[in-house]
Amino acid sequence: MTYDLIIVGGGIGGSALAAVMARAGRNVLLLEKSEHYEDRVRGEWIAPWGVTETRRLGIYDLLMSAGGHHITDHVTYDESLAPAECEAAPLPLGIFAADVPGPLCLGHPRHCQTLYDAALAAGATCLRPVIVDAISLGARPSVTYTHNGVQHIAHAPLIVGAEGRQSEVRAAASIPLHQDKPHHWFAGLLVENVKGWNPTRQAIGTEDNFGFLAFPQGGDRVRVYGGYALEEKGRFNGEDGARRFLEAFRMSCAPDNAALAAGTPAGPLFSYFNNDSWTDEPFAEGCVLIGDAAGWNDPINGLGLSITYRDVRMVSDILKETQAGAAPDFTPYAEERAERMRRLRFAGRLQATLDMEFGEAARERRRSYHERKSADPTLGMHGVAIMAGPENAPAEIFTEAHRARVLGLQPA
Ligand SMILES: Cc1cc2nc3c(=O)[nH]c(=O)nc-3n(C[C@H](O)[C@H](O)[C@H](O)COP(=O)(O)OP(=O)(O)OC[C@H]3O[C@@H](n4cnc5c(N)ncnc54)[C@H](O)[C@@H]3O)c2cc1C
Repeated sequence: MTYDLIIVGGGIGGSALAAVMARAGRNVLLLEKSEHYEDRVRGEWIAPWGVTETRRLGIYDLLMSAGGHHITDHVTYDESLAPAECEAAPLPLGIFAADVPGPLCLGHPRHCQTLYDAALAAGATCLRPVIVDAISLGARPSVTYTHNGVQHIAHAPLIVGAEGRQSEVRAAASIPLHQDKPHHWFAGLLVENVKGWNPTRQAIGTEDNFGFLAFPQGGDRVRVYGGYALEEKGRFNGEDGARRFLEAFRMSCAPDNAALAAGTPAGPLFSYFNNDSWTDEPFAEGCVLIGDAAGWNDPINGLGLSITYRDVRMVSDILKETQAGAAPDFTPYAEERAERMRRLRFAGRLQATLDMEFGEAARERRRSYHERKSADPTLGMHGVAIMAGPENAPAEIFTEAHRARVLGLQPA
């Protein structure tokens, strides 16, 4: 029961890392809590820079053969703009990363299963469902877990926390998680039987007290998300909540949304409050954190998968380069991640302020932003950070002066 690496959590990050490290010849144990992957309303859209990360990890073709679907253009709607004006010049999404036609969509349960199967095929020991009973770190790390009713203890020089927001490895390492205040509610639903939606076009928009995002998944399926004010906590509660949620997509400013509203719910409707979180140092003696366990970005940006794939790439590169018997140095990963998450936190807060605040003042701010941006496209540069990667936007974008410019505020 001694491994090179024990990974707790077999979702996107854990299964991808297990596959990559098993392919590199390491003896990997992957422990996953669930028996089956279910739709819990998580990420199904990978940004162009995240697609590049999947290529670098050697798993892009795998995702495509599992049903990956590329989106190639984007339209932003707003109640201050005429629909024809918005649709006249869709943003081509193939401009953000070399050889990437646009964002890549794949259902989350199938995405996880594909990576888990790849880890198994590469020779990792993959166990599920597993209950993790105890994690011990420090000089001789171990995980005590129960599988098929039998308790085991496994040892490895390194334990990876990849079990999402409620990370037990993070808790065992006493790594503090910082969180900022929730900004808005964000609900998601998979819709099928959507007739007439352009299958390669994504759209976002805000009207009245609702902001929407729609990402076609291939065929007649579209993953939709909707944002609404924190004060409206129970807005879509109840048996007919999914139907009322879809009705909220009917907007004068986005007439094609009628196709979404007429679709059929194909999964659960779950709501989360959106915020950002981060760790100062996502590692400690005997452990490293990846993906949401290390801190997450506001899902308004849709970047959790891209962030997780970058984490997997950086951590796997460090592990592959570390001499046998030596302790890996995760400092470069921690430094890159801190700046990456700072920039994405900034971009997310700006996007949420623009798209997910409601009422007269917010409406006027959006109107003014769209008007000024058509004359000065640099006001939309935070979008480059989201699509092309935070390191590919100029540093001055992530400053209070830029924020004031975008929102039409007096500089502080
Ligand atoms: C509403 C919403 C919409 C989103 N939309 C997008 C999007 O469009 N694009 C995008 O890129 N990101 C999006 N995200 C974020 C994205 O889903 C996550 O950032 C991403 O899934 C993180 O991957 P992960 O591997 O860290 O965690 P997960 O994918 O959550 O995997 C964690 C795994 O660990 C397992 N686990 C948990 N506890 C234990 C335990 N104790 N022992 C063993 N196993 C355990 C779980 O069963 C799970 O399989 C969204 C998030 C939300 C909430």
